[in-house]
Amino acid sequence: MNVATILKSKGRAVATARADATLMDLSCKLAAKKIGAIVVIGEQGKIEGIMSERDVIRAIAEKGADALNWPVSDIMTRSVVTCHEAATLDELMEKMTQGRFRHMPVVDDNEALVGIISIGDVVKHHIAEVEMEVSAMRGYLATG
Ligand code: AMP
Repeated sequence: MNVATILKSKGRAVATARADATLMDLSCKLAAKKIGAIVVIGEQGKIEGIMSERDVIRAIAEKGADALNWPVSDIMTRSVVTCHEAATLDELMEKMTQGRFRHMPVVDDNEALVGIISIGDVVKHHIAEVEMEVSAMRGYLATG
């Protein structure tokens, strides 16, 4: 299974924000959309960074509640690891485990944002894949 298959079932909508949005704006968006991360984009839709709920918590813990008035650009992670639609589930799991993050923006050949995959999506599809294998094995054993 690859990223394109996951995007087909979950859709391509990605929550985005501008780098000059405040941490408060971003927190409200995360809460309203019930998601864990937002991709920060520039004028031409170019990916400039990523902000997850962990970044918000860390900023408040280190700098106090005042951090909620800071712009996202002060806090966001700038070196964003992305993947293409052809990437496999295994490749995604490896990158997420290595980088210790739970969100992976998907880009096309022009580096334009075309979707996002969360660890929840990966686990869900991985379980479905394993269940299909088990059922195929059972069928094979029953007929063998
Ligand atoms: P997460 O596990 O996704 O909540 O993110 C944990 C940390 O990794 C936060 O500091 C995020 O800004 C950062 N992060 C999340 N996704 C990515 C990514 N695809 N590439 C680089 N950093 C990321």
